[in-house]
Amino acid sequence: MQNSTDLFERAQRLIPGGVNSPVRAFRSVGGTPFFTKSAQGAILTTADDQELVDFVCTWGPAIHGHNHPVIREAIGKALEKGTSFGTPNPYEVEMAELIIDLVPSIEKTRMVNSGTEATMTAIRLARGYTGRNKIIKFEGCYHGHADSLLIKAGSGALTLGNPDSAGVPESFAAETIVLPFNDLSAVSNAFETYGDDIAGIILEPYPANVGLIFPRDGYLQGLRDLCSKYESVMIFDEVMTGFRVSAGGVQEKENITPDLTTLGKIIGGGLPVGALGGKSEIMDHLAPMGPVYQAGTLSGNPLAMAAGIAALRLLKEGDCYDRLEQMGAQVRNAISTTLQETGIPAQIPQTGSMFCLYFTDKTVENLDDATQTDTERFNKYFHTCLENGVYIPPSKYEGNFISTAHQQGGIDQACDVFTQALRSL
Ligand SMILES: *Cc1c(COP(=O)(O)O)cnc(C)c1O
Repeated sequence: MQNSTDLFERAQRLIPGGVNSPVRAFRSVGGTPFFTKSAQGAILTTADDQELVDFVCTWGPAIHGHNHPVIREAIGKALEKGTSFGTPNPYEVEMAELIIDLVPSIEKTRMVNSGTEATMTAIRLARGYTGRNKIIKFEGCYHGHADSLLIKAGSGALTLGNPDSAGVPESFAAETIVLPFNDLSAVSNAFETYGDDIAGIILEPYPANVGLIFPRDGYLQGLRDLCSKYESVMIFDEVMTGFRVSAGGVQEKENITPDLTTLGKIIGGGLPVGALGGKSEIMDHLAPMGPVYQAGTLSGNPLAMAAGIAALRLLKEGDCYDRLEQMGAQVRNAISTTLQETGIPAQIPQTGSMFCLYFTDKTVENLDDATQTDTERFNKYFHTCLENGVYIPPSKYEGNFISTAHQQGGIDQACDVFTQALRSL
């Protein structure tokens, strides 16, 4: 087998940038990405035969670690019956029951193939349901790569979006109002100005694609109240936080009821799955019941459903969340103690099995704060961890994840590596 360097050289001739998703290319931390030839539990084995304790967890999905025997067995059983039918199948009904049981606000749900599809559909549905055009999104919140969501921000309290990616027409971007996270007055100002034309608000209730940011007290409820007042659709994008921070996501933890929720990542048990769900009254606007079109050749795929059902059942039946919280606290304590001892200005926001390390002493409340953290220090920390067998996300803007499999192997070793890497800065 070829090593990572050879594989990457080959890949770069064949695939733009050598990768099928940009952040895998290590552009922000520098260096050559490693290729993984297998993964088991908390451990990745690279094409160079290095074993790494994995805190990326396939960017969120692998909450039970890699190649979990129960999920593997569920996929195997489904495989014997066929890989795709193009008709409704029994797994889809069971999956819908599980989602509706676990996620408090969801009365009806529709399966799709990725988080991007889920958010794209949620936006279209909010527009179709309200008959309005504009949506509000927040700086630093990532909702996949659909056109109207690929927009970050300019400056000022109220900015009509500029495209963040080439290829997004400005006329699309103009329908997206981009505001700073954690600033309720910016949202109420936007509603005062454009209230009649705001179809909905979409947000990551805990933004986790800029590290990990928590909402200020009352912020989520304030957004809920504004959406209710102006009859706008409140969309929680829980693709990352769903089934991660609790079985019912942030909405359960914070006791907020969004109108629509998007899901992905964990829900597929490692296969490509997304979903959206919410109030029946809104969901029934989707085709074939209603006028908002949405479809998918492989949606509700039996293998993907079987994997996802197994993953959700494991979460529902076990004491996973207690164990994950313990490990999250262990990492936070190890890192906080070292920060105190060394005097390095940094902080570690953590909830359950999600955490991130910001190299700054200012509390990070929005994208601007996250941007101002120390990139050079982060990159050095990243490479020291990697050299010592611990893989954390190759960007200061990404959340770290712990899986239940880290208990058997990895968490203690990783805490030592984190500590040493900090001391070496
Ligand atoms: C990953 C992510 C998405 C996009 O999901 P894909 O499956 O990568 O398309 C959307 N929203 C959030 C919050 C995410 O973390």
